[in-house]
Amino acid sequence: MLLPYMRNGELFLERIGVKEVSEDVVKEKYLEPIKALTLDLIPVEDDAQALKLLKSYGFEVAVTSKSILDAFLKRRKGVCSICGREGEVVENRAFIYPFERKIDSIVNEKNRLTFCLEHAFKLYSAMGYLYVVPIGGKDKLKFFFEGESRAFRRFSYLFREFWKEKSNVNRDRVVTKLSLKPYHGNEAFFSVLYDFVDFLRGRRMIQEAYDIERSIRAYLVYGSGQFYGSTIVEGTRLVELTKFLATLAEKKVVKGFFDDLVIPRGKDKKKNTLEREKFFSKLLDGKFDFILLNQIFIERVKRKLRVPRYYLPWARAYFEAFGGDILNLEVFERINGLGYSLGKKVKGTNLEKYFWELFRARGFEEFMNKLVELQAKLEISMDVRPFYENEKNWKVLKAILLNGMLNAIHGGEDEGN
Ligand SMILES: [Zn+2]
Repeated sequence: MLLPYMRNGELFLERIGVKEVSEDVVKEKYLEPIKALTLDLIPVEDDAQALKLLKSYGFEVAVTSKSILDAFLKRRKGVCSICGREGEVVENRAFIYPFERKIDSIVNEKNRLTFCLEHAFKLYSAMGYLYVVPIGGKDKLKFFFEGESRAFRRFSYLFREFWKEKSNVNRDRVVTKLSLKPYHGNEAFFSVLYDFVDFLRGRRMIQEAYDIERSIRAYLVYGSGQFYGSTIVEGTRLVELTKFLATLAEKKVVKGFFDDLVIPRGKDKKKNTLEREKFFSKLLDGKFDFILLNQIFIERVKRKLRVPRYYLPWARAYFEAFGGDILNLEVFERINGLGYSLGKKVKGTNLEKYFWELFRARGFEEFMNKLVELQAKLEISMDVRPFYENEKNWKVLKAILLNGMLNAIHGGEDEGN
């Protein structure tokens, strides 16, 4: 992540007309990246204000840090971790490269990153293209993009326009408002993309975005303190996710399903949304996890909550945008339809318990036996060929069938949509 991040710094310096890094350039320009971090919404005048701002963006600035400039000017002998040149180096600080893992008790201080002035300032300048989303408590999602220069410039321009539209200054801080309320890193990035696609649609720029995004890659870092997670989203995935969100389109459809993926266990919203985060970390990787959704649906039904709304539009949009990973839309529709009609038939009868019998079936044979048994009791004949044709993914098919049943038995007004 170090080099892609530094590339952002190089492009930022290029944008503000810096061709070569020197001590004079550092002295003259060091507040510029911070201004850009605030989207030029806050005039940054001195170090005290700058350090306060950086803290508000989740940079873990040491309490002893009084001066940003000193970090660049007070150098010692050493080796640059990037170019390997021996000479005067700057010690890494949270505001230079914020993603150095801080497992202080394990890592010897001598192994910390150090940089020559040029590389330190380039890394530091990368914050000019860094974006930050609060995700509850002190946790933040920080993300940035990488790509071939032309695509990067075009994409960054668009993205910053969007980000500005979403941001306001409130009590000397920049507050960025998203339509969804995420509590973890991956779901936060999905929320960002949702609003971004909405922005693009409003400007009739979705098609153009597909072309640019192909050459862009997103780097996400989330968490706080000692605990960090990271995700890389490739350009082809960004395109698929954009298609997915463009297909879903309606806010109530996106927000309804998103909000309903919560399993309320207590007051801790982060804990209540752990499964949802897992779902989105897989979606950012191109997978729609029906088995995980089945767990969420069941946990909600146990708590007398509704089955998440708009499950079907989500699943269909997924197949449309991603093409499916192990199944296609046709198989999905058949199994879901079968589950839904079974659910309708058993609803309110003593055969409802078959939902659990099917759920508990441990092997493929046992599952098929239960299905045939239920079919006999209902005196119907159903087409079970898709199960045999997709035997090695039978657990996924089982989850889809059960989700269909749950929708029929416990679904709200949007059932069967
Ligand atoms: Zn260097």
